[in-house]
Amino acid sequence: MKRINSELKDAKTIAISGHVRPDGDCVCSVMALYYYLKKELPEAKIDIYLEEPPAPFRILEGIEKIKSEFNTDEIYDVFFAMDCNDERLGDALTIFRRARRRINIDHHISNTGCGDVNIVEPERSSTAELLYDLMEPALVDEEIAKAVYIGIAHDTGVFRYSNTSPHTLQIAAELLKFGFDFSALIEHTFFEKTYVQTQIMGRAVLESVRFMNDRCIVSMVTRRMMEFYQVGPKDLDGIVNQLQSVRGVDCAIFMYEIGTLEYKVSMRSNGVVDVSQVAVKFGGGGHVRAAGCTMNGTYHDNINNISKEIAMQLKQAQTREQA
Ligand code: 5GP
Ligand code: MN
Repeated sequence: MKRINSELKDAKTIAISGHVRPDGDCVCSVMALYYYLKKELPEAKIDIYLEEPPAPFRILEGIEKIKSEFNTDEIYDVFFAMDCNDERLGDALTIFRRARRRINIDHHISNTGCGDVNIVEPERSSTAELLYDLMEPALVDEEIAKAVYIGIAHDTGVFRYSNTSPHTLQIAAELLKFGFDFSALIEHTFFEKTYVQTQIMGRAVLESVRFMNDRCIVSMVTRRMMEFYQVGPKDLDGIVNQLQSVRGVDCAIFMYEIGTLEYKVSMRSNGVVDVSQVAVKFGGGGHVRAAGCTMNGTYHDNINNISKEIAMQLKQAQTREQA
């Protein structure tokens, strides 16, 4: 593996992990790295530690190898933290801390690097894209290609967001040459929703509210609503993107209740507001156009606090425009 060959050459045990509530890029980067290392280091013992991925990813070969139980005394020679910094490793953090060498591969602008080796490139569309460029082309096979492709597709909103670069599309073109059914993979893992997922999205959109001269939009899902529709956090993906699609909206905020006076917050922006900066203020992180954090307090207090940050940025943007 380019740039980290020296770190890997004597590795006999390797652990791979990613962030809590793993998304498409996270799951696929972890799996692509797993397939690749299996080929590059066939003698090594390789374990994957990750919270259970969303159901559509069950189509990935070997996904059942993922350990979602983090109780182990093992001290790994190398630990790969993918698509996040150490703060978001969740229960895998203890394994990470004990490991002999830590390698961090990520593309989040808010990540300052948590490993002994850090390959953190915020201009990359996805961790999957970055990972692909670290691979020896001769070792890439169809399984790896599929995982990298789905990872990139998820973090670019299917090659739609501004993080999609000419290089991203060049990689996608190389991957398509493997001949897999990319259309079915994207449909199944990205667009398709269960009926209740569609219902709760509809409800969240219906109950959304615009503010700040309609430049911001917010919606929220309570635990009671989640119980009513029999859904979990994984079923709420895509709601914030739907809100961001409203014409005239600069910034969309979506919250769902995870505990008493505790909310998981997702934010999206068209680039005028840097939502990563907003999320970092509240202990989270992400990218300029997509970020998140966890907040304590009432829904209205949280919205008030977030709004102040957004208002400040919108004002700065206006001053810049006028200058
Ligand atoms: P989402 O809103 O889809 O959960 O996340 C959007 C982006 O923000 C993703 O890149 C995700 O990794 C990042 N993100 C979401 N929540 C958090 C958080 O609590 N902490 C950090 N550091 N990043 C987050
Ligand atoms: Mn990512």
